[in-house]
Amino acid sequence: MSTIELNKRQEQILEIVKDNGPITGEQIAERLNLTRATLRPDLAILTMAGFLDARPRVGYFYTGKSGVQLLTDNLNKLFVRDYQSIPVVINENVSVYDAIVTMFLEDVGTLFVVDQKNVLAGVLSRKDLLRASIGKQELNTLPVNIIMTRMPNITVCEKDDLLIDVAKKLIEKQIDSLPVVKETEKGFEVIGRVTKTNLTKALVALATDH
Ligand code: ADP
Repeated sequence: MSTIELNKRQEQILEIVKDNGPITGEQIAERLNLTRATLRPDLAILTMAGFLDARPRVGYFYTGKSGVQLLTDNLNKLFVRDYQSIPVVINENVSVYDAIVTMFLEDVGTLFVVDQKNVLAGVLSRKDLLRASIGKQELNTLPVNIIMTRMPNITVCEKDDLLIDVAKKLIEKQIDSLPVVKETEKGFEVIGRVTKTNLTKALVALATDH
């Protein structure tokens, strides 16, 4: 159960190091009847992925970490700052009609609402806008601050938070995205957003990009 697919040669190297480590690259190459240069990329991948550790003048040894442990190690290196997207922000006085137009034009599922001081005031999801639309209200004159989910009930994150903690919040609160905020004396300034799409991209990166 590895987090990345290992090829046959990489599996062979792992077995050799497991049984004989610490062992030098030269010695591994000899056992496989290959040159050290041929093995170099495989050793680099196994070391970067965390299966092997390399000590100068000692050689390679097996870290003994399972696929799940390695996955956890790598998950704990993924931060919001590396996966966040640009937030789409509107003013609280904007009409529901204009918010719907903005959602289509910007191609996002969630809008963040700020007040006159540019401080986070609310969140608008697709369903919030649909709900308002099936009512009898005049969408052109209804401001979004009447229908949005408002502070202090907004779940937020910061750029230095772990991505896995954002994932937990999304599940716990049953929502699709979080604003990435910076705390100022006025309140939260919105500097980014993390959505389920960002988390899906991180998952793919974990599986392929070591
Ligand atoms: P949808 O309602 O389109 O399925 P969500 O699941 O994201 O989208 O939103 C569900 C409800 O939670 C909506 O009423 C929305 O305003 C609210 N919401 C969305 N994101 C947040 C957030 N980060 N903090 C608090 N409430 C949120």
